[in-house]
Amino acid sequence: MTEYKIVITNTYQKGKEEVEPQFWKKKKLAEMSNQEWELLCDGCGKCCLNKLDIDGKIYFTCVKCRFLDSKSCLCRIYENRFEKVPDCRQVNMEALKERPKWLPKTCAYRLLEEGKDLPNWHPLISGNKESIHHAMQSVRGRLIISETEVKDDEYEDYIIDWKDI
Ligand code: SF4
Ligand code: SF4
Repeated sequence: MTEYKIVITNTYQKGKEEVEPQFWKKKKLAEMSNQEWELLCDGCGKCCLNKLDIDGKIYFTCVKCRFLDSKSCLCRIYENRFEKVPDCRQVNMEALKERPKWLPKTCAYRLLEEGKDLPNWHPLISGNKESIHHAMQSVRGRLIISETEVKDDEYEDYIIDWKDI
């Protein structure tokens, strides 16, 4: 059994005015600039929930990385995350190809990689970064617990079956 974490690219909505409208419909993920890539992140925070690998199947838990702010759903140590959390992985094309199930099914990167469109609550569609929270698609307001409060052998008790995971 293994635990995983995946980093969120939480600089979303920065410099939105500088990118081409609906760029995600015109470019493949691999063709996107860093700015476009980061804008795609909806800030849901679900990738910062710990996961279990049981016989090759990935299970999300409601146990969050200690550095995930459960209100903003953003990483509190974004600039230093890889130094402080060795198993935090960056969401990039390599991670997306190798481990798509490490991301929730609502993740914009996973959706686009699967040939799907962004949902109406995505901040790039709604123009409002709060829309994801209003649509209850982020971790805000949900029953999650910090990893500092959970022992290693208790993780299976926290496996979740959310529809948006
Ligand atoms: S260090 Fe930050 S980005 Fe990485 S898993 Fe924790 S909260 Fe998420
Ligand atoms: S799951 Fe995807 S869209 Fe949500 S915060 Fe993580 S990288 Fe961003």
